[in-house]
Amino acid sequence: MSTAARTERAGSRYEAVIGLEVHCQLRTATKIFCGCRNRFGDPPNTHVCPVCLGLPGALPVLNREAVALALRAALATNCTVQPVSVFARKNYFYPDLPKGYQISQYDRPLATEGHVEFASGSGLRRVRLHRIHMEEDAGKLLHEGFPWSGEKSGVDFNRSGVPLIEIVSYPDLRSAEEAHDYLSALKSILLYAGVSDGNMEEGSLRCDANVSIRPRGREALGTRAEIKNLNSFRNVARAIDHEIARQAALLDAGGTVVQETRLWNADRGETASMRSKEEAHDYRYFPEPDLPPLAVSAARIAEVRAALPELPAARRLRFVSAYGLPEYDAGVLTLSRDVAEYFETVARESGNPKAASNWVMTEVLRKLKESTEDGEGLRARCPVGPQSLAEMIRLIDSGTISGKIAKDVFDRMWVSGESPRAIVEREELRQLSDEGAIQAAVDEVIAAHPEQVATYRKGKTSALGWFVGQVMRKTSGKANPQLVNDLLKKALAG
Ligand code: ADP
Ligand code: MG
Ligand code: ZN
Repeated sequence: MSTAARTERAGSRYEAVIGLEVHCQLRTATKIFCGCRNRFGDPPNTHVCPVCLGLPGALPVLNREAVALALRAALATNCTVQPVSVFARKNYFYPDLPKGYQISQYDRPLATEGHVEFASGSGLRRVRLHRIHMEEDAGKLLHEGFPWSGEKSGVDFNRSGVPLIEIVSYPDLRSAEEAHDYLSALKSILLYAGVSDGNMEEGSLRCDANVSIRPRGREALGTRAEIKNLNSFRNVARAIDHEIARQAALLDAGGTVVQETRLWNADRGETASMRSKEEAHDYRYFPEPDLPPLAVSAARIAEVRAALPELPAARRLRFVSAYGLPEYDAGVLTLSRDVAEYFETVARESGNPKAASNWVMTEVLRKLKESTEDGEGLRARCPVGPQSLAEMIRLIDSGTISGKIAKDVFDRMWVSGESPRAIVEREELRQLSDEGAIQAAVDEVIAAHPEQVATYRKGKTSALGWFVGQVMRKTSGKANPQLVNDLLKKALAG
């Protein structure tokens, strides 16, 4: 049985409970505690210094810009910013962690108790956030791509000390799909707020998923597994589905779920146990003696709040009230800033927001989906500019082309990048609205099919569609359908 089928079956008896821990790299120019550049993709160990290499005696200095971005993220997700938060040392050994500890925040995080609203299924859902704290990223082990790979591994410390926030949700999610949709919404907020570039492949957004199940109707939470190594939204969803099915099978067989950390293997499409879940005391947390507590004044919070741009949720509401769009449509159109701006240009230039929304939601997004997962970077990848789409909608609204022909025109625009007007003129796609010409086609069709006309007149009015089809065929699909309908009805009423 497929994972999807097994998950579906498990879903009738068990309810899944999911909480996500999302790590987000902040888009600063430099690292969190030193002046090294924060940049992905450069040759290994080209952005390092005594601080981010953890050399003895080197002292951290907190990057003001990192705090500013973390505050933006906190306010954009409706969190309460704590007037004072405290950095702590989280001690563990790993070769990518030169100091032997990670500077993080523990019992006094930067921000607490927020929430994110997102569209999922056909409704609006809300996930509560437990906390957002700041920390530094670790370096990266390189196991492949070097002459000595296979014998030994290298360490790249360019990422060591890159500023991160960790966004911890309450276990409010109930399915892989919801987890996916929450992540999309969260990413969207972080991009709108300019906190992150949201690039999952480059590791700027990373997610651990905590998954448990419980018999339907039961209040108490089940034992959870924490799944790591989720490097795309799709893999988050796949891993959760797999994990739900695995836990259900275990319980059904009379077993128990053990609390542990599991690793997702995308190639095999399954999770495997990595280690038993570590407890907080394993890390011997203590306050970082080299950094003072971080104090954030009310004035600073107000300043950051005032500088936030319009966020997806607010824009969604505005789209509903300003353009009369259904909430769901507004949610889809505001998920990415690029899509939202594209839509608004089309709506404004065409003067027809409803049509703009229909075209963007169906044709534009469908065509883009064929190339990537979301609408980000739409401006760069969309061969049909918003002005062209608006022009096409105007051609429909003015009766120059029919809605059906418009689909063809749009497909051609997508391929050639030409203006709709140019395509319509060259291909002679103008809608036929000349009453005389259509009347002639109607008369011909009626004269050619006396039997059908007789049946129609005896009461089989459902045959009208068939007559419309005949007239459309005669006019190569170009006749104005409304006119065809009207003239046919009149003629058939005879
Ligand atoms: P830890 O400190 O061990 O990581 P937390 O209490 O901080 O544990 O929780 C981490 C994540 O696990 C949070 O996102 C939380 O919502 C989620 N979580 C906690 N309990 C459960 C559970 N029973 N099932 C699913 N997720 C859970
Ligand atoms: Mg945790
Ligand atoms: Zn450095």
